[in-house]
Amino acid sequence: MSDKKNIAILGSTGSIGTQTLDVIRANPEAFSVEVLTGNGNADLLIRQAIEFNPNTVVIADESKYQYVKEALASHDIKVFSGNKAIAEVVQMDSIDIVLAAIVGYAGLESTLSAIKAGKQIALANKETLVVAGDLVTALAKEKGVNLYPVDSEHSAIFQCLAGEFHNPIEKIYLTASGGPFRGKDKTFLSSAKKEQALKHPNWEMGAKITIDSASLMNKGLEVIEAKWLFGLKPEQIDVIVHPQSIVHSIVQFNDGSMKAQMGLPDMKLPIQYAIGYPNRMRSDFPRFDFMKYPQLTFEPADTKTFRNLALAFDAMNKGGNAPCILNAANEVAVAAFLKDKIGFLQMSDLVEKCIQTIAYIAKPSYEDYVETDKETRRIAEENI
Ligand code: NAD
Ligand code: MG
Repeated sequence: MSDKKNIAILGSTGSIGTQTLDVIRANPEAFSVEVLTGNGNADLLIRQAIEFNPNTVVIADESKYQYVKEALASHDIKVFSGNKAIAEVVQMDSIDIVLAAIVGYAGLESTLSAIKAGKQIALANKETLVVAGDLVTALAKEKGVNLYPVDSEHSAIFQCLAGEFHNPIEKIYLTASGGPFRGKDKTFLSSAKKEQALKHPNWEMGAKITIDSASLMNKGLEVIEAKWLFGLKPEQIDVIVHPQSIVHSIVQFNDGSMKAQMGLPDMKLPIQYAIGYPNRMRSDFPRFDFMKYPQLTFEPADTKTFRNLALAFDAMNKGGNAPCILNAANEVAVAAFLKDKIGFLQMSDLVEKCIQTIAYIAKPSYEDYVETDKETRRIAEENI
């Protein structure tokens, strides 16, 4: 038997998924790919399957099942389709670690299912923790499952905590690049177009998170993600805008000492740390050069203009199903913005409207979250 880690990559055709496969391609002795899943891009999923020869692939979009099945007919690879199948295959005995990189609420069920089966999780899908952080972290604790953060800010905090897990955190600072619209006012934003919002200055990412970065909703979701990952109270989490994206986040301990993790912005680093933990694997990624960055700057976040961040803090303080409402409304809002159906600032209006409209539940069950997500999408669509 080899001591390779057997990995399932959920959302392998996305930005995080393909970068994970880059990391694995560079470290073939450390990993064996057991499962790949995708949704829209069947051709890429097929190419990945032929290259990495997993046990199983799942195409979430059932209309593409025949196409994928036929393309892989001469390979010894099982093919399934649908989200139920993803939730089932993640429980396979042969899997050691699941990299959860499906985007949005759609990733919740399979992540929960993997935790139930005791799989270690490398978590990119922040929406899972935003929607149901209490259930997810409680189940992970019960099953002895570690949630290794892939999100760069949370990976930074996690790296700063190595050797410090017994020491209380006073607070954390999540850094934010500010996105393409940093410094812009509401007049500018009211006519901002998706083409502008999709141009992130420092990171190449999927469309949804790129829009979230422009609207600061991404940072809002990350604040809630951090609360659950590190067991923090809302008042222990702060956001600081750092346009260069070199300091990936900061922990402040109760003696006042601060630790930060730094490096060039490249998601392969946190991905590699999450799936390689506790080891740091060698890499040839470009190294940071101080002379190219004579100044690292920091400024407060403008929550008056970028209301999503304030809405996310409110939802976190409210707790219960409020973050689930925030997330679902935002998913509908981003999709509508990407189809030019609503303007940039109307995304925040829609989220706020949904939080005000939908019934608050203080201690939701899983079924309550499913229902809240459904109801919020219905109300949000009605308001577009
Ligand atoms: P992406 O859109 O590039 O990829 C999403 C993946 O999920 C694709 O493989 C897609 O086929 C699959 N998918 C989409 N809808 C699905 C559905 N309904 N059912 C099953 N599969 C579905 O997104 P991304 O940028 O890779 O982001 C993935 C997750 O990682 C998000 O939660 C995002 O917030 C988080 N994240 C991304 C980055 C980044 O740099 N891209 C950084 C930090 C965190
Ligand atoms: Mg991030």
